[in-house]
Amino acid sequence: MERSIQILKFGGTSVGSGERIRRVAAIIAHHLHNTEEAFPVVVVSAMSGITDQLLRIARYACSDQLELCQRELVALKHRHLEAVDRAVHKPEGRQSLEHDLQLAFSMLEQDVIAVETGRITTGKTDVDYAVPWAAHAPTIGAWGERFSVLLVAAAIRDLGREATPVREEVIITTDAQSDALPSFGTLSGADPLAQETRVNAQRLIHPAIERDIVPIVPGFIGRTTRGRVITLGRNGSDYSATVIGEALDCVEVTIYTDVDGVLSADPRIVANTRLLPRLTYAEAARLSWFGAKVLHPRTLIPVAHRNIPVHVRNTFRPHLRGTVVGPEQTTHSAAAAISVRRQLALITVENTDLFGAPENAGQVFALAARAGAAPVAICSSSGHHLAFVVEEQAVDSAIVLLQHDMGSWRVGCRRGLAACACIGSGFTVDPMSSARAITALARERISVITQGASDTGIILIVEEADSERALRCLHRDLIAPVIPLVRHEVRERQVI
Ligand code: ADP
Ligand code: ASP
Ligand code: MG
Repeated sequence: MERSIQILKFGGTSVGSGERIRRVAAIIAHHLHNTEEAFPVVVVSAMSGITDQLLRIARYACSDQLELCQRELVALKHRHLEAVDRAVHKPEGRQSLEHDLQLAFSMLEQDVIAVETGRITTGKTDVDYAVPWAAHAPTIGAWGERFSVLLVAAAIRDLGREATPVREEVIITTDAQSDALPSFGTLSGADPLAQETRVNAQRLIHPAIERDIVPIVPGFIGRTTRGRVITLGRNGSDYSATVIGEALDCVEVTIYTDVDGVLSADPRIVANTRLLPRLTYAEAARLSWFGAKVLHPRTLIPVAHRNIPVHVRNTFRPHLRGTVVGPEQTTHSAAAAISVRRQLALITVENTDLFGAPENAGQVFALAARAGAAPVAICSSSGHHLAFVVEEQAVDSAIVLLQHDMGSWRVGCRRGLAACACIGSGFTVDPMSSARAITALARERISVITQGASDTGIILIVEEADSERALRCLHRDLIAPVIPLVRHEVRERQVI
């Protein structure tokens, strides 16, 4: 009989130093020790800050800033080699890890030289990219996760358990429309292909599991059907964990991160946040769509339709149970969490003939999507107008396209906005919920520019400058009175 499998995913802060990598190894060993649990397949991110550093390297390599490029490469190597001594204690293990890392560094350097000398071709010209160096972002940006798997596997072996780094990309995707690393939450244009990934995952991962060896898989990266390395977008390791989990028919996924679980708001903005023990897939998906970085917005897509639970737990407090995201209906009848998504712009499209908006909605959204500005939220409509918010970075091209193709329609735009989302199943069951949210903002003299609602919550569009204040007062008036405070200390994130 095939063994049941669970996915354990560790984020960038969790593997941010040698000590932390050793802690991660101990957590994995603990899961292994518990024989009632499914066998772990581990997915890891790059050490915190490393993907940013690699993207700087790609940019410098492309723009002939070779000294800066070298300086970053030296710092990157130093950071990983410094982690070796803390992550691995036995001399043989250290030696072989250093050897593997040096080999990987020289492969990265070869890629950098190829970028510098223009030998890496992507099949597209620079004209295809808003920023030319972005064409090389995946080639270089993929290395952070590849270094991490070497460190984590060696740290587990140092604790006397068998582990092996997976050195190929597991996820197979469609061909990318763009190689640029997309911003938070947006698509990379390279979508994972379930069947191809399943075949590849079984090929690369099953042989290790059959021999009781824990596979350590690089998150974030994949390969197109044509063999090109791609990434799943910034913060995409969560998504890669569930894609791999689905491919392996896992029984559960655990996302280990640097907070106790999904909290009632971003603890970097709001004090006294509450830990949410349970969330439905729909609640969690909405929360991440509207800016809660704790889960990449696409994380739940591969697992929700199969009712595979996703746990969110704290690497630094592994004794806590964290949050379970699953199918069961929670009993919230008010907001459970508040989040904010920034850098948005509101587009309004209005027909001067005072009719025709519903009939033309499909065309409007298709044009916006073609300009890379698919609606983040659709806020209001009437017989002659539509209003929706999009990412600010794409708004200019969307406006140009709409003005060009929508003839007599008046197209308007307001920049510098943010969407505050108050989320909880059954939000609208209590007719006071929305009133409370709007009153909370009104008391602080924060204007609501437009809004949208559904039974999982309400979205309030405000000026970006007001957004943090809005989040705090919404939390104070909607969450604090209904969810009791259980103290959990918030970790200071280490700035590197
Ligand atoms: P990782 O490196 O583990 O993937 P991320 O930085 O991507 O971690 O995500 C975790 C961070 O998400 C937390 O440190 C926290 O600041 C932020 N965050 C934003 N909203 C929430 C929320 N509602 N609950 C928990 N964390 C949140
Ligand atoms: N290392 C990648 C990033 O920084 C992916 C991730 O950490 O989720 O975006
Ligand atoms: Mg993350």
